Amino acid sequence: MRVGRVLVSAEEIEARLAEMGAEITADYAGKDLLLVAVLKGAFMVMADLSRHIALPVDLDFMAVSSYGEATKTSGVVRILKDLDREIAGRHVLIVEDIVDSGLTLQYLRRNLEVRRPASLEIATLLLKRGLQVAPTTVRYVGFEIPPDFVIGYGLDYLGRYRNLPCVAVMEEGEEEGWEGTAASGP
Ligand code: 5GP
Repeated sequence: MRVGRVLVSAEEIEARLAEMGAEITADYAGKDLLLVAVLKGAFMVMADLSRHIALPVDLDFMAVSSYGEATKTSGVVRILKDLDREIAGRHVLIVEDIVDSGLTLQYLRRNLEVRRPASLEIATLLLKRGLQVAPTTVRYVGFEIPPDFVIGYGLDYLGRYRNLPCVAVMEEGEEEGWEGTAASGP
């Protein structure tokens, strides 16, 4: 497998995250905001989105793994790393890379809601069109994309390609680098 068609370029990601950051800044002005990213995939969105939020936010990380095949979600989620601190009474914004079936988020939302945050919302860079079997309200969406398996900008294929600067689809073929291709940008 190798890097195929570019779905969202690095420039488009940067511009959209700036817009989302401005929106979040306005919505949470004067509030105690905690950003929670879900590792590993969301590390890139967290780093870039948080820098577009002009508020002194707090950051925390969770790591979850879903059982089953690499390219499909089973809906069964295991918490590998929980939050460092309590979230009771705090405004929590979950930062996600991608929402596919929505099952992971549904699980996370339920898990965090019982801890009684003041509010709990979700921001995701990517939302796959028409695949949500578990309808979750996602307050901030970067891009809606077709239901292809994508890689890059935090998203992996068998643990690799997270460092690709854009979001691309996988295609059949020999694995190779992306320097000088559309995936490396202009
Ligand atoms: P969901 O539970 O919404 O179906 O899937 C959530 C998780 O599945 C994501 O956080 C991500 O780890 C993984 N996932 C879903 N779609 C894709 C995709 O197209 N590419 C990659 N690399 N991971 C995906």
